[in-house]
Amino acid sequence: MNILPWHKGNWEELFTVTEKLPHALVLYGPCNSGIDIFTLEASKSLVCRNHNETEVYCNTCQDCNWFDSNSHPDIFFVGATRIDEGTSSNNISIDLIRELKVFFELTPHQQHGKKVAVIFNAHRMNLSSSNALLKILEEPPGESIIILTTSDLSMLLPTIKSRSRLISFSNPNLEEAKEYLGVANKQELLPFINLYAGNPLALLNDHLNYPLLAEIIHCLQQGKKFDSSNINPNWFVNGFPWLINLIQKWAYEILLSKLTHQQFYFPAEQSKIADLASMANISNLLRFQKKLNDLKLYASSPINKEINLDIIFIDYRKIFI
Ligand SMILES: [Zn+2]
Repeated sequence: MNILPWHKGNWEELFTVTEKLPHALVLYGPCNSGIDIFTLEASKSLVCRNHNETEVYCNTCQDCNWFDSNSHPDIFFVGATRIDEGTSSNNISIDLIRELKVFFELTPHQQHGKKVAVIFNAHRMNLSSSNALLKILEEPPGESIIILTTSDLSMLLPTIKSRSRLISFSNPNLEEAKEYLGVANKQELLPFINLYAGNPLALLNDHLNYPLLAEIIHCLQQGKKFDSSNINPNWFVNGFPWLINLIQKWAYEILLSKLTHQQFYFPAEQSKIADLASMANISNLLRFQKKLNDLKLYASSPINKEINLDIIFIDYRKIFI
């Protein structure tokens, strides 16, 4: 089995509770927290004809083979997996839910076998697709299980949630994250873990951004001497909110260092941050943070990013005396 170590409790919660599995499960937690990996493993276990008492698949039966080749007749996936996790552009249409209904109307290939449907990133359902799903949940077919995954539970209809068992997933604690990075032979990335909300998967997946992060951090380290001509168009490649968010964390770090001499997001920059904190004027720093907060509110709208960023860095330089 291939689930993340910090999801073992979730596995037990799902499979070893004495009550029968409900027809619908909602697995929810932060983006990139490995819910998709868990969901695929759980789906395979549910259809495997030889699964054992803790619902672990056998990996040798025809069901397991079909599952691995993505051709199991009793599995139906709606939506892509983690490829587009966190985006809202790719909605789940009512037509897909209608296909799901047809899927459940067919009898399972195995007598008394389960039919399993997974709706990845279920928050992408609109009202009509949600209502269509609700109709299925109101009269669930015999041995059927629908698994919904989401990073935004609030986007699901309350009536869908009330008909499902909700299972909460979390990011690992620091020790677990450390161990995971160790196994991946990437211990050197541990100082960046808080930048990724403690999520080592997100940290590892973001490797293409490391040079960009290093470049921006290097410029921010200049403090009063920050040179706006160093702003590079590729700073916007992850979207303006991403950039503002990074600058916010940097400003927070300076404030934290100023007030408590501690670090959170950038422990590897400890001495630089301490230098900047020693030069920072608290009022100007707080004013700067407020401006970042204001800007963040409309950073996703079509504004002139370059001009706004220029203004932000004029204020950034003013922090230091
Ligand atoms: Zn099997």
